[in-house]
Amino acid sequence: MKKAIFPGSFDPITNGHVDLIKRGLELFDEVVPAVLNNPDKQSLFTTEERTAMIREVFKGYGTRVVVKSFSGLLVEFAKTEGASIILRGLRAISDFDYEAQMALMNRSLTPSIETVFLMASEENSYVSSSIVRQVSRFGGSIERLVPPLVAEALARKRS
Ligand code: ADP
Repeated sequence: MKKAIFPGSFDPITNGHVDLIKRGLELFDEVVPAVLNNPDKQSLFTTEERTAMIREVFKGYGTRVVVKSFSGLLVEFAKTEGASIILRGLRAISDFDYEAQMALMNRSLTPSIETVFLMASEENSYVSSSIVRQVSRFGGSIERLVPPLVAEALARKRS
């Protein structure tokens, strides 16, 4: 059983995240989207709201997609989950520096856990949660960037 943790802020989940999780399922038996609960970081949605939205999007996937939240060290969370893989996405060269730092740090902390990167698909490579939040805040259309229930949640935050 290959289990991969897909950690992130998911504030909120976008079509880019959804695509990565689905492609992760082609490679691994189970993908665990793991919402980082970081009290130091201002977020639009609470950890519970972010977790609930991902659960709703993947509700048809049973035990292959089990959404969790975590705080503290990612490698410790992966160990408690019995996962040997961290899944991350790469959109642009600009993602690389930070991702390489994280992957190397995580490997030095726990060599048995491997980080696997998937390239963002072309149509999602410009999609990020922060762009979605900004466009939505100013009333722009984000329907093509996020699942419908996320678009509705964003509209509710605005009103
Ligand atoms: P973080 O704050 O940890 O970067 P994010 O929620 O922004 O959390 O991203 C979580 C993961 O999803 C990261 O690996 C990121 O590269 C990946 N990701 C974000 N947007 C996309 C996208 N449009 N296509 C593919 N992967 C993405």
